[in-house]
Amino acid sequence: MTAFEFLPWQQALARDWLATRDRFAHAWLIHGLPGIGQQAFAAAGAASLLCESPQSGLACGQCQACRWVQAGNHPDLRRIRPDAVAAHEGAALEDGDESGAKKQPSKDIRIEQIRSLLPWFNTATHRGGWRVALLYPAESLNTIAANALLKILEEPPAHTVFLLVAQAPDRLLPTLVSRCRRLPLPVPDAGQALAWLQQHKVDHAATRLAAAGGAPLSALEQAQAQQPSVPAWLSLFLDLAGSGGASAPLADALVALEPVVWMDGFQRLWLDLSMATHKLPARYYPEQDGDIQRIARALDARVLAQAGQWLQEQRRLAQHPLNPKLLGDYAAQRLLQAVRPAPGRQP
Ligand SMILES: [Zn+2]
Repeated sequence: MTAFEFLPWQQALARDWLATRDRFAHAWLIHGLPGIGQQAFAAAGAASLLCESPQSGLACGQCQACRWVQAGNHPDLRRIRPDAVAAHEGAALEDGDESGAKKQPSKDIRIEQIRSLLPWFNTATHRGGWRVALLYPAESLNTIAANALLKILEEPPAHTVFLLVAQAPDRLLPTLVSRCRRLPLPVPDAGQALAWLQQHKVDHAATRLAAAGGAPLSALEQAQAQQPSVPAWLSLFLDLAGSGGASAPLADALVALEPVVWMDGFQRLWLDLSMATHKLPARYYPEQDGDIQRIARALDARVLAQAGQWLQEQRRLAQHPLNPKLLGDYAAQRLLQAVRPAPGRQP
């Protein structure tokens, strides 16, 4: 994947979007489900806006501007992301710590990062073209930084396009969102996503794609991390739900993961279980359909729904769980309890 290429499922949308570049909005909020490639879309969008000879609107990959973008040194492109994200991408951090002590890189986009853009707005652009500020993930703008950005967007600098990337626009400052044109990215067509995963030699591509809710980049990441196509917590949950075993091993499996990972997984399992109570086949975990149908036959649908609501509430708070260990322990008990056979029913 190169910096200027859209993913296969993004190309048609990208052409339509970039075809309007003569009357382009100065700020876009590009958003969608995690793992479908919002960031790749925004990066390729930036490259296309900067390209000197775009091909049907998309970056050519050959010109001077495209080479600069690829090398990460185009003067008219700025990436604004938390230091922790930059470190993960392998970029050298600009402002080193004078004390020489190792600091945890920030997970926030800080106000200094927004302020440092101000002189840039006053410099001339290369051949009078666009200037593009790529900001991701927008959720990591802290309140002060978000307000500073809002001020900039209220009087937008000339020739400048802001591309903000987000997964959950409802977690952003509403006044900031109202200053941006929204560009929602759809979940890719399963055929295109599968073809792409097969191109990347992903094993059990269909199973992984379904378990990732149709998000190909998440499926690829799991395969590259050599995780099993069926997550360990899921096999464990289904086993324990069937056997009536104690929740401790499940709690251990959950505590070892980022809370959002298992919460998203359980929310998908809950949808599969609730479809199964209506005798519909599993959508996210089709290989586990037998177990899911068996559990669904005996459970109490009301109790299942209550636990589903609890999951949803936890998911909203998941970025900052108070105590992941306690949460994992409690979730394992609570969720297993919710699928126990209702009184008088046999699994
Ligand atoms: Zn080009």
